[in-house]
Amino acid sequence: MCGIVGYVGGRASIDVLMNGLKRLEYRGYDSAGVAVIAEDGTLSTRKRAGKLAVLSEDIAEQPLPDSTTGIGHTRWATHGGPTDENAHPHLSADGKLAVIHNGIIENFAAIRDELAGEGYTFASETDTEAAAILLGREYERTGDLREAFKAVVGRLDGAFTLLAVHQDEPDLVVGARQNSPLVVGLGQDENFLGSDVAAFVEYTRFALAVGEGEMVAITPEGVEVTDFAGNPVQSTPFEVQWDASAAEKGGWSSFMAKEISEEPDAVANTVRGRVADDGTVRIPELEGLDDLFRDISRVIIVACGTAAYSGMVSKYAIESWTRLPVEVALSHEFRYSDPVVDASTLVVSISQSGETMDTLMAVKYAAERGAKTLSICNTQGATIPRESDAVVYTHAGPEVAVASTKAFVAQITALYLFGLHLASVRGSLSTEKIIEETAELQAVPEKIAEVLTQHDEIAQLAHWMSDTRSVLFLGRHVGYPIALEGALKLKELAYIHAEGFAAGELKHGPIALIEPGQPVFVMVPSPRGSQTMHAKIVSNIQEIRARGARVIAIAEEGDVAVLPYADSVIRVPLASPLFEPLLTVIPTQIFAMELSEAKGLDVDQPRNLAKSVTVE
Ligand code: GLU
Repeated sequence: MCGIVGYVGGRASIDVLMNGLKRLEYRGYDSAGVAVIAEDGTLSTRKRAGKLAVLSEDIAEQPLPDSTTGIGHTRWATHGGPTDENAHPHLSADGKLAVIHNGIIENFAAIRDELAGEGYTFASETDTEAAAILLGREYERTGDLREAFKAVVGRLDGAFTLLAVHQDEPDLVVGARQNSPLVVGLGQDENFLGSDVAAFVEYTRFALAVGEGEMVAITPEGVEVTDFAGNPVQSTPFEVQWDASAAEKGGWSSFMAKEISEEPDAVANTVRGRVADDGTVRIPELEGLDDLFRDISRVIIVACGTAAYSGMVSKYAIESWTRLPVEVALSHEFRYSDPVVDASTLVVSISQSGETMDTLMAVKYAAERGAKTLSICNTQGATIPRESDAVVYTHAGPEVAVASTKAFVAQITALYLFGLHLASVRGSLSTEKIIEETAELQAVPEKIAEVLTQHDEIAQLAHWMSDTRSVLFLGRHVGYPIALEGALKLKELAYIHAEGFAAGELKHGPIALIEPGQPVFVMVPSPRGSQTMHAKIVSNIQEIRARGARVIAIAEEGDVAVLPYADSVIRVPLASPLFEPLLTVIPTQIFAMELSEAKGLDVDQPRNLAKSVTVE
């Protein structure tokens, strides 16, 4: 799991590579490195453990030779620790060829043994170096980078995006992908490669997705895409919908602060273009695909982390609207549990990047067993949508902060749109009801904006609680996944113990955790939705308060029932019950971000995490 950039053209390659890596650093930041082919035809590399800034300073102190061809990498280590030696690029034995890699080469040990048997030695512990040495050997045999590369990629098992350059072919970068991402940026007398379009969007918005099992060769003049056997492949260019400034912080203290502020837009943009003039849902991407959904008898949502919680939230709405049973499974648990899946199952996957390896494997598994597959994804041209029968894109824009915020609300939005679409295809909901629910969804962005106006009060709360060591979250019904998500965000960002519970479970165990001063966030459902559920959660609040808990209630405007028992109340505007999660999650995100900042932590790049988890 890492960020990859490649460049050929007329610009100083080091600038293109470093700018691209900066935008891809969210994919991994254990180390970074570049290889450039200097104008005198020699290969130069520089690589350093640590964040990109370490490499940047190193290059500033001791510049690399002028060059217009190169490759760059920011690493998330899988094989070997985050050291200078293990940083990419890795070189062939003669030092003339450099390779960068995203993923895991599963048969690297066998290749390494074979090469060691021939007398080759290794400078790192990585799986990648086996491919670099092998490629060097093949180059000696063929004298042609494209040919040598073809021979090597055909031998590799596992997941990889590989890029390579050779000093004897100075205007060429070759790449290949299998289960890891790779996109081409199309320029004028220059071309780019990147793990995603953020790598090159400041130079060009025209891109080409390299497909699964395909290789690409870029020169300043052109781009050739072939399969691993070398047969030409036709791919259609697409235009990137956002520009480079969208991938920058734009004056906010962190990408996350910026991304939370963009949540109203993330929802509005995801709904935009998907509501017909009569107020019903119309998803252009799903036109002509009604047959896919008509005969299904159940839905399984597969996802990991925050995306799985967006699935859990949406289960309530989809079941209520379609009366189809909906199950939510963690992708990795689903994949290896011998699940019951057949042609009447619709597997809906959720992945912001569209590259989450656990989810990709779950989708492939489901497809092999005949299930219909639909992907909810924020990244055009990503692998999971390409592997699925249908896709509903979220339009949250690029999410750079590692912990997800705006993509989460966009995912729920897309799933709700899909739920309404499914209800319409299957005739399970009246047109009036569909129009009513669609209008609710359209009203959400304004309501989120209202919640955001309480940022300062929530920040204050977080700052007061900056030495808290544990926080609990309680919710019922749609509030339950929000309790889980609130706790996850706090773990990810502030590194403190946090747990979410279904409020009804309290008395079955978790209440033993309550001691004086224990902070507990409670998602209070609207009494307008269910008097009973509201009354029960007010009782839960009293129960924990009686044991000394410090209660922070997230409740709708005008709900006075919670006032006597809550230490703090955060208000959300009125919404019908199924839409509450899109509002109640916002304060939990702000709280986690502010607590992280209060502790002086890196909000955008929390320790040990990476943005898209492209290894299983
Ligand atoms: N498996 C390779 C390594 O550990 C690449 C990891 C990555 O994708 O960053 O170096």
